[in-house]
Amino acid sequence: MTKIENYIGGELVAPVLGRYLDNFEPATGEVYSQLPDSDERDVERAVEAAKAAFPAWSMTPAEERFAILMRLVALIERDLDALALAESTDNGKPVSLARSLDIPRAASNFRFYATAAMHTGNESHDTTGVAINYTLRQPLGVVGCISPWNLPLYLFTWKIAPAIAAGCTVVAKPSEVTPMTAYLLSKLCIEAGLPAGVLNIVQGTGPKVGSAIVSHKDVKAISFTGGTKTGEEIARVAAPMFKKLSLELGGKNPNIIFADCNYEEMLVTTVRSSFSNQGEICLCGSRIFVERPLYDRFKEDFVVRVSALRIGDPRDASTNVGAIVSEPHFEKIMSYIVLARQEGGQILAGGKQALLEDRCANGWFIEPTIIEGLLHDCRTNQEEIFGPVVTIMPFDTEEEVLSYANSVRYGLSATVWTENLSRAHRVSSQLEAGIVWVNCWLLRDLRTPFGGVKDSGVGREGGFEALRFFTEEKNVCIKI
Ligand code: NAD
Repeated sequence: MTKIENYIGGELVAPVLGRYLDNFEPATGEVYSQLPDSDERDVERAVEAAKAAFPAWSMTPAEERFAILMRLVALIERDLDALALAESTDNGKPVSLARSLDIPRAASNFRFYATAAMHTGNESHDTTGVAINYTLRQPLGVVGCISPWNLPLYLFTWKIAPAIAAGCTVVAKPSEVTPMTAYLLSKLCIEAGLPAGVLNIVQGTGPKVGSAIVSHKDVKAISFTGGTKTGEEIARVAAPMFKKLSLELGGKNPNIIFADCNYEEMLVTTVRSSFSNQGEICLCGSRIFVERPLYDRFKEDFVVRVSALRIGDPRDASTNVGAIVSEPHFEKIMSYIVLARQEGGQILAGGKQALLEDRCANGWFIEPTIIEGLLHDCRTNQEEIFGPVVTIMPFDTEEEVLSYANSVRYGLSATVWTENLSRAHRVSSQLEAGIVWVNCWLLRDLRTPFGGVKDSGVGREGGFEALRFFTEEKNVCIKI
């Protein structure tokens, strides 16, 4: 059985206390590897290694950083199949999705920031006849990156890549639920010749490892993606220490469908935006609002398409819906289906555990579930479920649907389907969301800022903003 190790000071090492946790394969419900149950001692070693590496790394020319990161890109692409299989085994997602989305995006994250670091510049401001000011952007030092389990390598690298490219050194923690691809990345970093201590990966739980990173006095910034409750706790600890914070948190995203939409495209994409990755993408649309004239037609077709999705072994190329990431998360999603019934919802499709055979007989699978008949303000429509469960409801006017869409505490993303250009702009500007997709979903240009509003987070990732996040800005004013 594979024993995952920490990556500290350029080496793969066991946790100081030698304790390990079981790592489960969601599709089988069985332990298939072990990960370090690290604690503050391991974090301390990682911070020391990162501090030691910082002076040299922060002075390494951008071209050299670029060359090392591009070697890493090539290695990720070389190992695409192995990484996709590991991601699927760890997370339960179809291997086809890991192969087409997660792993290529991890390579793109490094490629994007390797090249971005080559093209950053600092502004200067001429105070006419009096002074010249210029802005120096200097890497912060040691920074902490903490990521969740839903898109493991994708989100882990989305934080690490800009931090390293900006010249910081990093102490990072993947989710304890999906540790494997970060471990494989450690090995690739060694092979790519990343200098020792530039990236340190400490595996283990949030309360032991995550909180030790957040509260460490020498960690200057925290880039976190995960649940809103965890984000609150991190902000409570880090804010009084005046750390820079980027928090990417939960969502409860509306998908608004107007009667004049391109129907077939909307239908195909709505099946995807509802159930990709078993609905375990923070950007999935979990509340579907349909303009009344289209409601019955949509309902009928949506149920047919969703019922045809193939739930199966994530390793099988024909599987559309894989396993739920863990037993506790499986129980949480099932409890929301019970709640939806109690709140008066009718189950139009799914609603049950999916029972598979052979290798997957004990796995955690849930049928893609569609619920109607709920009010917009009930708990099922207000709380993040983060699974293959969506609600559908009709609406009559723009004002009405905007009030439903904006009625939640979250504001991560939204989708709008209409062929009416003016309405598309009008509704997009009034939606409380960090990103609005019009007639599409999950289309990402890495140059654009990404992040939520309201309780979905603070700060922005992506583009040059992320590079700037990992730097301190200093103004130098020269009198002339
Ligand atoms: P989580 O908050 O439970 O865990 C996220 C990470 O934080 C894990 O690595 C965990 O070990 C760590 N952690 C837990 N407690 C901690 C603490 N006290 N201090 C420091 N670190 C701690 O989230 P999860 O269940 O892994 O992921 C699902 C959540 O992530 C959902 O709410 C989802 O919406 C959100 N998410 C948001 C985005 C986004 O971009 N906004 C993207 C993906 C997932």
